[in-house]
Amino acid sequence: MWSAAAATRLLRTHADLHPEAAGTTVALLTPLPDLTLRPRLYQADPAGFRVPLDRVLGPVGVRRIAATATAVDTGRRRVTAVAADGSRTEVGYRRLVLATGSAVVRPELPGAPLLHDIDTLAAAVRLEDHLRALPQAPDGPGRWSAVVVGAGFTGLELATELVGRLRAKAAPCGAEGQVRVILVERAAAVGEGLGEAARPVIIRALDELGVERRLGVTVTGLDEHAVHLSDGSALPARTAVWTAGMRASALTERIPAPRDGLGRLAVDARLRVSGVEGSIYAAGDTAAAMAEDGHPVPQSCQHATPLGKVAGHNAAADLLGLPPVGFAPDPYSTCLDLGAAGAVATAGFGRTLRRGPDGFAKELKRAINETWISPPVDDPEELLRRADHRVSQRQSAPHPA
Ligand SMILES: Cc1cc2nc3c(=O)[nH]c(=O)nc-3n(C[C@H](O)[C@H](O)[C@H](O)COP(=O)(O)OP(=O)(O)OC[C@H]3O[C@@H](n4cnc5c(N)ncnc54)[C@H](O)[C@@H]3O)c2cc1C
Repeated sequence: MWSAAAATRLLRTHADLHPEAAGTTVALLTPLPDLTLRPRLYQADPAGFRVPLDRVLGPVGVRRIAATATAVDTGRRRVTAVAADGSRTEVGYRRLVLATGSAVVRPELPGAPLLHDIDTLAAAVRLEDHLRALPQAPDGPGRWSAVVVGAGFTGLELATELVGRLRAKAAPCGAEGQVRVILVERAAAVGEGLGEAARPVIIRALDELGVERRLGVTVTGLDEHAVHLSDGSALPARTAVWTAGMRASALTERIPAPRDGLGRLAVDARLRVSGVEGSIYAAGDTAAAMAEDGHPVPQSCQHATPLGKVAGHNAAADLLGLPPVGFAPDPYSTCLDLGAAGAVATAGFGRTLRRGPDGFAKELKRAINETWISPPVDDPEELLRRADHRVSQRQSAPHPA
């Protein structure tokens, strides 16, 4: 979305000087009519965490093609795509930005279809529907217990939020006291990738909310009543959610270019895919770009937005023969929601704690979720202002930091 907006912005800026700019169409090929606000999918009532793309990009003339890309022919510069009715189509391009994101890697184990995830809006809505049905479910062991697999960023946000979500469902049944949320983590500690400084805050929050931990084990299988662990034990639970491991969209494998361990395409500083003919750019979770001080970007919303803008800008600049811009994101920071126990914010790849007034991190998280990550709707001028790669997410909207 931000690539399409940034390309449109540059083409409009140069429409008077470059006749080519006026004659160029920007198209967004995507199966869904909405942008999913993916970072919010751990929260209750996820069905509304989406923004209609036609009301964001329609007013600036971006054409939406409702289809799923299945192959890219870099030599012929054509994308093969399949529409919802199964019909196949080919779309030609002069410049291509691949921004098909990432997907959680679901495990293959007995009972795997029973595992929920919160990777997509549809999956998060399925989990919400499942929780809503619990009050009508037969009583018995594990009815109010949820196992969250993976104590990384997504698992921690979900586990801490699930305590309140499950209690709200259990309360009318007088079963609030039976709610259990259990984090299962293969590593020896929670939040391994989130830094030493944040861990005591995270552990305090888990203790405050009563989130149990089973560390150093993994899931070997599950059925409708229990989750089975690698140490031979079983946790009675009717709800299990898998959050471990993300991988770049499989479409990256259709581009003949080097990829990193997460399946992301190697790109240069202007986000052009390395070693492939045909002017392809990658953005967001499909791009192995570099952030500050030689750190590869994490698969994060914080980086996906500026990556999108720079890739879109450069794709259009390339068409017009204008110089490209380099990718230079804001310094890395994180903000982890801890449900009713607050939130914790870190700065830099060293992940030092960001301190502020009481409730600062929670307020920051609220601003990110409710304002920063939402594009302007029915407001072409504001969209094009924010599509400028020099405007950061922080500058896009009011925030408490
Ligand atoms: C539960 C959860 C919580 C998160 N929390 C945070 C957070 O707090 N902070 C943070 O920075 N990041 C967070 N992230 C990560 C963040 O959401 C991603 O890094 C970000 O969404 C990546 O943006 P993207 O545009 O690259 O990909 P996506 O958001 O995945 O978008 C990709 C789009 O491409 C479409 N698509 C996929 N395949 C095809 C195809 N073959 N053809 C056509 N279209 C296709 C998809 O439908 C989707 O619309 C979270 C992710 C999850 C799942």
